[in-house]
Amino acid sequence: MKFRFFDENPISDLDPNQKLRGFETFDTASDSRKNLVKVLRGRSVDADQLVDILANCRNGTRCLSAACPVCVRRFRMVWCSRIARCVMNNADRWCAASIVPAELALPRGELDRFEVTRAKERLRKQLERSPIKRAAIIGGFDYALQTFDGRAPKWRPHMYLLIEASQGRIEVALKRHYPNDPDTRKAVIIKPLTWGIQSSMKTATYTFKAEFYKRAPGTDVRGNSDPEQMSLSPAERTELALLLHKQGFLGRTIRRGRHADFRELTTR
Ligand SMILES: [Zn+2]
Repeated sequence: MKFRFFDENPISDLDPNQKLRGFETFDTASDSRKNLVKVLRGRSVDADQLVDILANCRNGTRCLSAACPVCVRRFRMVWCSRIARCVMNNADRWCAASIVPAELALPRGELDRFEVTRAKERLRKQLERSPIKRAAIIGGFDYALQTFDGRAPKWRPHMYLLIEASQGRIEVALKRHYPNDPDTRKAVIIKPLTWGIQSSMKTATYTFKAEFYKRAPGTDVRGNSDPEQMSLSPAERTELALLLHKQGFLGRTIRRGRHADFRELTTR
């Protein structure tokens, strides 16, 4: 079922814009949209095409680009409120799984080679033959640039998934597919969810992040309040914006299984 999120309003009691401390404000998102337009302008033909789209994002005629901070904020309000409704009263039935697949790493300058559809298809095949093949799964892709001492940085596409299954079953399903390596010390981290409206909304925001960073050597590519996170350069921001735009909102998400509170999941 298609998720027509731009025709929907967030669930008011669970709208992170109203209820979650620290959620981005409209003014912040609007400033970052203007700032991104300045960064993109003149960098390439594709970047200039994206400038034309983002610069015309207005109230009533939103651009709907998944690179647009204003439209991302709007998507996150609907998406996160829906997720919070699924998990808040059943936190003990859900876990969060953060997965950093080594094989998805790409050199800086080559992020356009990342194929989200292929990455999702690979995950689907892994799940099909696993003890969590029928579990509801809601999440998405996140991006970080991992830096190293004396080596070129790498983009690290990774996933953050909420899974309605026990920690043990999720470990059996996922861990064998994602080995650790020297640059990925913990490829899979699985944690039970905690109860509460605030934590449900906060967890939901991790499935579709609005800000992206460089991560210093020795720190994890995830990290929500990571002290060693650094801003991306203009060239890196351009690379990432073009990828996000190409993927679209639903392209970046992962939705699987069935859930009464989130009918737009897909079972394949
Ligand atoms: Zn927009």
